[in-house]
Amino acid sequence: MSMTPYRGRFAPSPTGPLHPGSLLAALGSWLLARHAGGQWRVRIEDVDPPRTVPGAVDQQLATLAALGLASDGPIVHQSSRDMLYQQALERLLDEGKAFFCHCSRSGLADQHGIHHQCVARSPRQQPAIRLRVPPGSTVHFQDGLRGAIRQDVHAEVGDFVLRRADGYWAYQLAVVVDDGDQGITDVVRGADLLDSTPRQILLQRALGLPTPAYLHLPLLLDADGRKLSKSDAARPLDARAPLPALRQAWAALGQDPACLRGDGSVVDLLARARAGFDPARLPRHDIVAPQGPR
Ligand code: GLU
Repeated sequence: MSMTPYRGRFAPSPTGPLHPGSLLAALGSWLLARHAGGQWRVRIEDVDPPRTVPGAVDQQLATLAALGLASDGPIVHQSSRDMLYQQALERLLDEGKAFFCHCSRSGLADQHGIHHQCVARSPRQQPAIRLRVPPGSTVHFQDGLRGAIRQDVHAEVGDFVLRRADGYWAYQLAVVVDDGDQGITDVVRGADLLDSTPRQILLQRALGLPTPAYLHLPLLLDADGRKLSKSDAARPLDARAPLPALRQAWAALGQDPACLRGDGSVVDLLARARAGFDPARLPRHDIVAPQGPR
């Protein structure tokens, strides 16, 4: 058993209000952290200004507070961590593991968007920076719910972007630097990010960072099989009614609804959730969300 104390996190991007799918990741990561006697941190992933919605950070934090899910320790905002990302990038450039790239999306269309070598004929004013992913870069890892996962990152993804041509940090770089810097031992998040994990593991290795344990929770799907957060059904959580939202997320996590029956405050309910949580009941497949009232 590892001697490093468990530290998990919930890392929303402020692209809008939290929805039931976000709560699944928030509550699931919180329950697993508490079950392990560990810490749970909140990190705001606001490195993508074009997608950041004004007011969303405050709204998300107010919703988490109403749900009783409080960060153990300071809340980190990625927008204030340029220095850390810059240092990591320079190290990768110095070591020849990353390179400037002038290719455009349309230039890579013939390669299905997968970069193996530069095809740009003319320089861009501001090139992107990519991680070099040589042949043989196959990553294997054990997902806490889905078991053995394997991805040939060279073939399936190619050299991937660390700093975008518009100058913003890529999610992959920021998340890896922050998970490392914050000492995150366990990443629990939605299965929509399963495909990113091998890239993040390669980047951890390139930066000499430890690889956390990963567990990807099932996604909430609407009746048509679409990811809930991307569909019209992704209605924001109502921060004024935290108990029904928590009970719904609890049930979606496969837990026994009887544990959370009855009245009480959010604090009472979370205490009962903590006591009754059984990780063996977590569902391994995506879940069709119950339809709420329209
Ligand atoms: N910020 C990402 C999102 O909101 C989550 C990143 C992560 O958990 O690694 O989808």
